[in-house]
Amino acid sequence: MRTPAIIGNWKMFTNLKQATELVTFLKTNLSKITDIEIGVCPPFPYLAPVKAMIDSTNIKLGAQNCYWKDEGAFTGEVSPAMLKDIGCDYIIIGHSERRHQMGETDTMINNKIKAALKTGLTAIFCVGELLEERQEGKTESVIRRQLEEGLDGIIQDNIQKVIIAYEPVWAIGTGKTATPQQAQEMHSFIRKFITSIFNEIVAKNIRILYGGSVKAENIAEISAQPDVDGALVGSASLKSDSFSQIILNYKNKAK
Ligand code: PEP
Repeated sequence: MRTPAIIGNWKMFTNLKQATELVTFLKTNLSKITDIEIGVCPPFPYLAPVKAMIDSTNIKLGAQNCYWKDEGAFTGEVSPAMLKDIGCDYIIIGHSERRHQMGETDTMINNKIKAALKTGLTAIFCVGELLEERQEGKTESVIRRQLEEGLDGIIQDNIQKVIIAYEPVWAIGTGKTATPQQAQEMHSFIRKFITSIFNEIVAKNIRILYGGSVKAENIAEISAQPDVDGALVGSASLKSDSFSQIILNYKNKAK
């Protein structure tokens, strides 16, 4: 039985006051939710203050990126060990904004996933195709390559600490959501691929989140799909009422 997760990616948004207000609302309004894993991923400067606010609650904490070394002369970088030290549970790795705007390659992403897992953190590993790639019929080959290279060298014991997020790039921040059928098709493809590189048990247990313009209005329909185990939410996670409503509506999904 896979515990569904709804995780908010705040990207480079909020200030300390907004982060505090957002988390205070979530803490109060979602404290009774036990069957959905709830997470927030604030920008680096707000991780520690947010951690102090959510300590001993049902809300988990994630960072949005990391470097793959434990420490060293790498100005501006942050290691998984540091993120663990301040109480993070997850690290988002391979987000399309990092792949396409910061030039992250599959090899860099693989290094980051291995480093996160070595530290004992959960890697939220994002994969997704560009619009042109979908239009050219390359969706499956792109996702296959991202999975193959991103998970290269990861052993079966560690894969349990990976959450995959399928995030079609054309749906991120655009208001265009994949249809529930498109999401299911790709989630099922990913699960089958995980069976082929690990085995059926691993594939059955791994969580695959959908990301791309998820809102309160579409979460129930998308997550009713059998291979969708929750969502990675961008813009809609920045407003306390919309993020809470996504979580509450998840409970009304038609599974
Ligand atoms: C994201 O950034 O991971 C994301 C899914 O963004 P949005 O929900 O805004 O499309």
